[in-house]
Amino acid sequence: MQTIYMDHAATTPIAPEVFEAMKPFLTTCFANAASTHHLGAAVNRQVVFAREKLARLMNCRPGNITFTSGATEANNQAISTAARIARENGRMRIVTTAIEHESVLEPMRRLAAQGFDVAYVRPDRFGNVTAQQILDEADDRTGLISMMLVNNEIGTILPVAEVAHAIAKRPILLHVDAVAAMGHQQVDFSALGGHFMSFSGHKFNGPKGIGALVSAPGVMPDPLILGGHQERGRRAGTTDAAGIVGMAEALGLSIAGMAEGNARVAVLSARLLSGLMAMPGAHLIGAARLRSPRIINIAFEGVDRESLLFELDHRGICLSGQSACAAGAGTHSHVLASMGISEALLDGAVRFSLSPGNTEGEVERVIEAVAESVALIRKRRDR
Ligand code: PMP
Repeated sequence: MQTIYMDHAATTPIAPEVFEAMKPFLTTCFANAASTHHLGAAVNRQVVFAREKLARLMNCRPGNITFTSGATEANNQAISTAARIARENGRMRIVTTAIEHESVLEPMRRLAAQGFDVAYVRPDRFGNVTAQQILDEADDRTGLISMMLVNNEIGTILPVAEVAHAIAKRPILLHVDAVAAMGHQQVDFSALGGHFMSFSGHKFNGPKGIGALVSAPGVMPDPLILGGHQERGRRAGTTDAAGIVGMAEALGLSIAGMAEGNARVAVLSARLLSGLMAMPGAHLIGAARLRSPRIINIAFEGVDRESLLFELDHRGICLSGQSACAAGAGTHSHVLASMGISEALLDGAVRFSLSPGNTEGEVERVIEAVAESVALIRKRRDR
């Protein structure tokens, strides 16, 4: 049976060129980048080059990139640093959205328990969050706004630049979770205007377990992990040279192939969407004005998510119901729930996340398999 992978929002495979770029650091160039001997210095040099490359690709300063174990850690670090600064300034209010990733929402819950007043802006039923909604919540007590660029479950694009522009002269820090955007759209950190930005290598054909927190000049992230002096004391732990070099290579490749890749995904995505929506009782979740074609979230009436994922998996098709970090928790997606999607539809929503590597043939096979599975599940239910 052929495996079809349409879960690229959960993770992506390492590109062959990325694997090649990483190999020396897992074999011959294995030295610790902090070692002063020639082998260590050689590894360190490549880490410096990778940092410079990433900085060029995102338009930030190399010294303002802190490598982390991924975006979960980067989000935690950004939010705890921003909250510390906000508290020092006597600004105890935080504005975020109800559709953020768990790695933003959990730190927010902890801050709320520590006395912060956290406002969660809810999207409309299409998944739209407007800049005005965020700004309406950002009063004079607000010290931090945290919002994502692209939502990882429904693909809606949030108006980060508009918010950044509007608060530019106010003493409010802006944190941006750029995970679902990085490598898929141009992300220019300086032009965006935020103070912190998180991203993760494994979402754009780089390795897992590596990500970064980018910060604006003058706002240093506080270390979350204490120990050695790596990353100028902002993140202790032996430098993951293979991961860093791989992530820089992956971002370079993604950006170089972005126009072509996006055009390809747009065609695949339009066909998948029209094929799925032609089925009776299909509802597109998150039909926002601005959305990424890479993510399609659809609910099928009378179908429960677990059965559909099971049937599709049985047919070789890998999809998710929601964010991988929440999957298996036995709950509905907080993103869909915040949009006011009815219980019946919440139960049946699945996410198709595409990449340019998917083929027309795969899209046709997925449409067929979903039609078969949905019909089968409904028939069983009606028995
Ligand atoms: N933010 C978003 C929007 C994500 O989709 C993810 C990964 N599911 C993360 C943060 C966490 O990233 P990582 O896997 O690198 O911890």
